Amino acid sequence: MAQAKVSNPRGLGDIPFQLPEVADTDKRRARRLYKSLAERYPEAHCELNYGSAHELLVATILSAQATDVGVNKATPALFKAFPTPADYAAVTPTDIEPYIKTIGLFRNKAKSVHAAMTTVADEFDGEVPQTMEDLLTLRGVARKTANVVLGNAFGINMGVVVDTHVERLSKRFGLVPDDATVQQVERRLMALFPRDKWCMLSHLLIFHGRRVCKARGGLCREDSICRRYCRVGKGEADT
Ligand code: SF4
Repeated sequence: MAQAKVSNPRGLGDIPFQLPEVADTDKRRARRLYKSLAERYPEAHCELNYGSAHELLVATILSAQATDVGVNKATPALFKAFPTPADYAAVTPTDIEPYIKTIGLFRNKAKSVHAAMTTVADEFDGEVPQTMEDLLTLRGVARKTANVVLGNAFGINMGVVVDTHVERLSKRFGLVPDDATVQQVERRLMALFPRDKWCMLSHLLIFHGRRVCKARGGLCREDSICRRYCRVGKGEADT
């Protein structure tokens, strides 16, 4: 079957899929929201602790369905025991397990970390690859993890990290339709926000999600950003 031609706007020509059309009014609203969030959370950043690209990759693999706080408790000893990708490759997944057993799904994650680091050591000369295509060849790495690594370790914006907070807030702030899939959320956010803001956008939404809009019992109606942008905060819907 012939591949559909992708024609994204200028500056997005290397994005290998079509981004949705968005209205200029929606773009302007999105940029106002971004400004408000950036003023509120000037310290927004990736809350996983890491000192190198491969450490961020490992921490992000470990963070699936786990908290950053829980991952940060386990990683100092893990990173000390395995300073380089080759050090993970030299052992078995069972040797990694004791360091991460406080984290959910640790057996499977030990296998993913071992396989991903072995590939980095063997196929990429010990350096974490800097393209989406290569990152997606690593076990345990899907677009979300690849976007975390590209954006935070290398300053490369190839997409937007859509975690549970980003998905929930994008819907509550009316940036995306309520029934949008994770893939649709990412693509619409990419179309709405300037490319150089994609990485920080997810940090800002995650900071607001963790501090104000908890999954249960958000501070609806007490928060100025919520009142302005969220239909729940305006009292038009229930949480
Ligand atoms: S108004 Fe409530 S539901 Fe909406 S973003 Fe704020 S805390 Fe979350």
